[in-house]
Order: sequence, then C-alpha cells, then structure tokens
Amino acid sequence: MSAPIDSILIVGGGTAGWMTAAALAHALPRGCTITLIESEEIGTVGVGEATIPPIRLFNDTLGIAEADFLRATRGSYKLGIEFVGWGRPDARYFHPFGTFGRPFDLVAVHQHWLAARAQGSAVPLDDLSMAWGAAKRGRFAAPLADPRSVASTFDYAYHFDAGLYARFLRDYAEARGVIRVEGRIAGAERDAQGGDVADVVLVDGRRFGADLFVDCSGFRGLLIEGALATGYEDWTHWLPCDRAVAAPSETDDDGLTPFTRSTVRAAGWQWRIPLQHRTGNGYVYSSAHVSDDEASATLVANIRGVRLGDPRVLRFVTGRRRLFWNRNVVAIGLASGFMEPLESTSIHLIQAGIAKLLAFFPSKTPDPLAVAEYNRVATAEFERIRDFLILHYKLNAGREEPMWRACAAMDVPDSLAVKIEHFRRAGRLIQRENDLFGAASWLAVHVGQGNLPQDGDPLLAHNGDTGASRQFVERLAAAIAGMADSMPRHAEWIAQIGGVHR
Ligand code: FAD
Repeated sequence: MSAPIDSILIVGGGTAGWMTAAALAHALPRGCTITLIESEEIGTVGVGEATIPPIRLFNDTLGIAEADFLRATRGSYKLGIEFVGWGRPDARYFHPFGTFGRPFDLVAVHQHWLAARAQGSAVPLDDLSMAWGAAKRGRFAAPLADPRSVASTFDYAYHFDAGLYARFLRDYAEARGVIRVEGRIAGAERDAQGGDVADVVLVDGRRFGADLFVDCSGFRGLLIEGALATGYEDWTHWLPCDRAVAAPSETDDDGLTPFTRSTVRAAGWQWRIPLQHRTGNGYVYSSAHVSDDEASATLVANIRGVRLGDPRVLRFVTGRRRLFWNRNVVAIGLASGFMEPLESTSIHLIQAGIAKLLAFFPSKTPDPLAVAEYNRVATAEFERIRDFLILHYKLNAGREEPMWRACAAMDVPDSLAVKIEHFRRAGRLIQRENDLFGAASWLAVHVGQGNLPQDGDPLLAHNGDTGASRQFVERLAAAIAGMADSMPRHAEWIAQIGGVHR
C-alpha cells in the first residue's frame, strides 16, 4: 500500500471550510494533521439558509443531535418550497420533500390524479403530498417509520443560520484536533518540477505546505483558479440570474412557516426563509435586466416584517470549475462552482464533495483513475441540478417581462429537453444517472408550472374501473388532511426541543 498522507490544508473557513474540517476530523481520527486558514477580515458569503434532506445524514454521520444543531443555528424545519407566480402569475404550487401519496397498484399516483381530473376531480396535486398537508397548516412532526401510514411519505430538511453552523462545526473540529490559523492569504506557490501546489503563503510571510489542499476559499477559488488556472464553465445563458440582494427582517405575519417561499419578480425571484430569530429575504436577479438599485427597492418593498439592516448585493457567475479535483487541490463549496439558490443545493454540494473526497481518499501518490472518477461524478451532479433549475425557468412561460420571455424561448440542454418531452407526451418521469431530485420533485414542477401531459399511461386502461382513480385521489387527500390536522404546530415542535419561537 502506498504511504498515507500526513497533512491536509483547508483554505477558507466559511460553511464549506468548516463542514470539510469537521468531516475530515471525524473520518481521520489519527495520523493526519488538518489545518484550516481563514481571514476574519475577508469574512464569508454569509447567506445560505435553506437546505435539502441529505443534510440530516451529514449531521447524523458526525454524531450531531438534531436538537443541539437547531438550538445552535437558530434553525427551523423545512418541508419543501412554495413557488408563487411560477408558471402563471396567479399560480402557486409546492415542491415537497417526499412523495405524492403511496404507490397504488402498478400505476403511478400522478397518473391516477390525471385520470381523476379528467373525471371531474378538483383535488390539486399538492393535496396528495403529506409534506404540503403539514406545511400549509404550519404544522410539523417527525415522519413515522410505518410504511402503511401516509405520515411516512414525507421527508424534511432545515432552515438555519449558516454562519452559526460554521461556528458550531468549528468547535466540533477544533475539539477533534483541527488547527485553525487566522491570516490573510497572499497566494500559493507551485512545485517547480511537478506543478502541484507546494505552499500557501500568507500576507505576513508565513507559509503552509501540505500533501493535500482543499480549496474552500469561496468565489475567489484561490488555489483551484488562482494557482492552477483550472477554468470555469459559465451557465448564465441558461440560468440568467447573476446577482442577489439580501436583507433579513423580523419574523413577519406568516411566522415560522415550515417551508421556504420563492416568489417570481420581474427579473428573477425572491426568497423568504424563516428562522427562529429572524426571516431571511433576498431577490435573485439578472443584472442584464434590472439595476442593483431597482432590485434593492423591489426587495425592500416586498419585505413584510421590519427590516434588519441594509440590503447587501452579492455577485456570482452560475457554472462550475472545469475540474473539481486538479492536481493536489480539491475545490469544495463556492470555489467549485455555484448554481443559484432556487432549490437550496449549494450546501448539499459541499456535503457531496466531502462524501466523494472520502470515497476517493488519496494516498501520497494520488491515483489518476480515482481523481478522474471524482471529476466525472461531480460533473454529473452539477449538471443534473443545473437541468432541474433550468426546468423552472423554461416553464415560466406566463410572464411578459423580457427576461422571462427569453427564458421561455431558450434552447435547453438535450438532457433536459428529453425529460420535458417525455412528461408532456404521457406523464413519464425519466431518470438518468443518479438524480438528486427524484420523480416527485420533477412531477411537482412539471404540473405546478403547467407542463401537463397530453395523454395518460396506457397501463391505467387495464387497471381499475372508471371512477376508481377519482375515489383513490379523494381518499388519499382526506387521509393526508386528517393526519396533518393531528400534528403539532411547527413553533410548538421547535419549542419542545428547546428552541426559541415567536
Ligand atoms: P465563503 O462563505 O465565501 O467562505 C470563504 C472563506 O474563505 C472565508 O472564510 C474567507 O475568509 C476565506 N478566504 C477567502 N479569501 C481568503 C484569503 N485571501 N485569505 C484567507 N482567507 C480567505 N446555499 C444553500 O445551500 N442554501 C441557500 O439557501 C443558499 N442561498 C444562497 C444565496 C446566495 C445569494 C448566495 C450567493 C449563496 C447561497 N448559498 C446557499 C450558497 C452558500 O452560501 C455557500 O454554498 C456556502 O456558504 C459556502 O460558502 P463557502 O464556504 O464556499 O464560501
């Protein structure tokens, strides 16, 4: 066996840096020195509050109890995202975590829903989702394990203060031996012969070498781009938003909702993310279609609670590094690429990067085959998420503003076009490779944004009699409503685990 590595240097202490440090400290309890350099003066991006369910696996793996985590990060529960004005200006739909109902004979639930609709049923698809049943009533309880219960058919994630999460993970990592260095990095030096990164050099002259470098320096990509000039694939032609303006507010009248809200605006969309102590708000927009001042004014006009602080503009380029692992540098977090926050996927991509790094963990002589596989899988993960995000933009055809008209008319990647066409023809949900967002997620967006099938599943004609689908759908919706009514209020659930609520 080739010699194990002795040292890892993590550059950057945002959410990515401290998640990486905590996970590596947990996975490498001995024999490897882990150092993290960060600069308080530079700071972190400081937004990033909504997540998707796999975050629970990350915390569980590290042995972090949910109640401790939610208390430390002032977090709340998230059952999905409510989309307002997407598809049609007057429309609303929910992208739930979990499924729509339970499997019913051999035919997909949504095929029964389509048949029931044709039979005159007015039950919205959303009402077949347990997550929405609870979310719309402002209720929450942990899912049940019994697969026969509708209360087993949903999943959940969290809203939290990402700055507090990084702080929490810093304590975790330092307690397990991670060395934190405060200092501003001036640059990196490469090995004259091999070309690998040899040293990170601080402004005050200190130098830090390592066997492996993890670049968590944010959009700057100090090592992956600054030192190695890896290159960046720009996806702005598909995902036109390149800025966000953010401002927190006091909790508004809607209160501590167990879901994120995304509302369409003239040149993008606005998020609302409720935490225990405040609500996060932001307008994600295309700078080609609206100025920073106009975007800030729109955000301010649409914040319902008392604003806490001035709007802050952030700039980004949607896309990905051409390589995520280049030589002896692995880029994780914003240094690896960024897709706008529409489906709250960035913190998940940090987790996915860490999981792959552990799966392909190098020795002193890295295996090029493992590095290539890391890059292949990471590319596929980014592209699958990219397609899912583009779906929202492409199907938002009911708006007149120039940005939305351009989105409705744009050519989408072939990998997405085929999925849109399959659903449009017969409601078929096509999965290729390992899609982070499963069939229920795609279904929610197709139906929610008006891509309704022209025809149903031929299998349905051979299963059940006329009226069976309608009966099934109405019973399912009633079962979900009954179960949701029996759940505690979200705020009560949080108070019960020791959190604060209003
Ligand atoms: P950063 O937070 O930028 O951290 C970079 C670190 O590198 C800092 O510690 C900094 O001090 C250090 N550093 C940089 N340069 C130097 C230097 N020269 N010397 C020393 N140190 C240096 N994600 C989600 O999952 N959900 C969301 O809802 C969400 N919303 C978002 C909304 C917006 C508008 C944006 C822009 C992002 C959002 N994200 C979201 C993404 C999320 O914020 C990031 O993925 C996450 O915070 C990780 O950031 P990071 O650690 O990679 O970078």
